[in-house]
Amino acid sequence: MSAAKTVAIIGAGPVGLAAAAHVLERGMTPVVLESGPEAGHAVRQWQHVQLFSPWEYNVDRAAARLLAPTGWNSPDPQVYPTGGELLAQYLVPLATRTLLKDVIHTSSRVSAVSRVGFDKARTKGREAAPFEIRYQNGKGPETLRADTVIDASGTWASPNPAGANGLPAIGEREAQARIAYGMPDVLGRDRERYAGKIVAVLGAGHSTIGTLTDLATLARQMPDTRPIWLLRGNDPAKAFGGGANDKLAARGELGTHFASLVASGEVQVEAEFSVAAISPSDGRLRIATSSACCGRSVVADELVIATGFRPDLSFLGEIRLRLDPAIEAPVALAPLIDPNEHSCGTVRPHGARELQQDDPGFYLAGMKSYGRAPTFLMITGYEQVRSIAADIAGDKEAAERVELELPETGVCTRGGVEGAVAASGCCGGPAPAGIDACCSDDAITKAAGKPGCGC
Ligand SMILES: Cc1cc2nc3c(=O)[nH]c(=O)nc-3n(C[C@H](O)[C@H](O)[C@H](O)COP(=O)(O)OP(=O)(O)OC[C@H]3O[C@@H](n4cnc5c(N)ncnc54)[C@H](O)[C@@H]3O)c2cc1C
Repeated sequence: MSAAKTVAIIGAGPVGLAAAAHVLERGMTPVVLESGPEAGHAVRQWQHVQLFSPWEYNVDRAAARLLAPTGWNSPDPQVYPTGGELLAQYLVPLATRTLLKDVIHTSSRVSAVSRVGFDKARTKGREAAPFEIRYQNGKGPETLRADTVIDASGTWASPNPAGANGLPAIGEREAQARIAYGMPDVLGRDRERYAGKIVAVLGAGHSTIGTLTDLATLARQMPDTRPIWLLRGNDPAKAFGGGANDKLAARGELGTHFASLVASGEVQVEAEFSVAAISPSDGRLRIATSSACCGRSVVADELVIATGFRPDLSFLGEIRLRLDPAIEAPVALAPLIDPNEHSCGTVRPHGARELQQDDPGFYLAGMKSYGRAPTFLMITGYEQVRSIAADIAGDKEAAERVELELPETGVCTRGGVEGAVAASGCCGGPAPAGIDACCSDDAITKAAGKPGCGC
């Protein structure tokens, strides 16, 4: 019965492509609309970044089954690729060498989704009406009809602004020439921009600590480079992650190494720094905690804003969504990922039931399904779309089944950081009161005239 179903998939990122593979495997017809000129357009923007999940967590199973007959060489499951390798060794072959190549429409930006003949307010008969998807492809507005829609359009294009209140800081828009969002390629493409400069980085997630770590590396090569970490919270250790407790070892190691850069002073920390205003100052930027005269301020050549992302809901105005008002994720999913409650990425697997919206046949998936929560993993998205495709095909048993064991991502709370560092054998516990050290071993080695234990 499901054979004729057309499934529109918005976005050809890792999760959109996986969705298309699952839909195809179930005998249905996927149509993928991608705004960028190539599949994996968002990943391409951060291709210099080393992933913290190894290949075993980055390849969808249905996608691998599609790739197998093409002679695809499955990458070593234990190796950590960069974003560029994820593209070259997986996403590009998947999009160009398998059956998917005929269903992906690139340079096709979805601008609106509705139901044929039904505005949002009209109910009777609504569930039987096909979806109408408007998109722009440079040749004028196009329309696609589909039985169901999976929105896997990610959040990369809608980064959060600098303001702690969720709004752009006063002067942020005017200062765009010296501001970058997300994770610039500090050691590669953007090296000239940052070498020898004072660079402030605002945020507390993995992009922040990755960028600051790269800036510290750049500072060793170009000594005038000075990284400054602007942190809204009062506890830098919260950003260090699960350390040795993180099953995604590369991520744990990144946090542990970053902690050592902070402890050694290679990264200057400005804690409890909520950006409210940005203004020009002698050819530089003054970044201040208040737009009035008396707040704290930092002067820098460049500002990187890495305060996370939010979903673009602008083209879903005619769709009946049921999202958590704070996290902007589906209501059934939000409590599992709410960053106010969970600092870790360990989330129980979930699927169609949680992601189905109030408009029957409309699902959110991938990074976008997490709304403003920062802890999304590709492998979570692959399980989401396996379940969604089963649901659309009418295989409710498979839709409900959990086929995924997510990696434990460590105890990421303050207590967990201490536990994690202790577990790594690096530290002996908290530093004595009044001593400038990150832990007791650090205090002991500093007292002995050494630079510290490096934890
Ligand atoms: C720097 C960084 C590092 C990360 N590292 C990891 C990691 O190590 N391991 C891990 O598991 N996860 C990681 N993630 C998180 C997440 O898994 C990735 O962001 C992943 O790319 C999400 O896949 P997605 O398909 O949901 O979204 P995206 O990769 O963002 O793909 C969405 C696609 O939709 C397109 N699109 C957007 N709007 C429209 C529109 N209106 N119409 C049509 N197309 C549209 C975009 O161009 C894009 O190609 C990382 C994220 C970032 C930002």
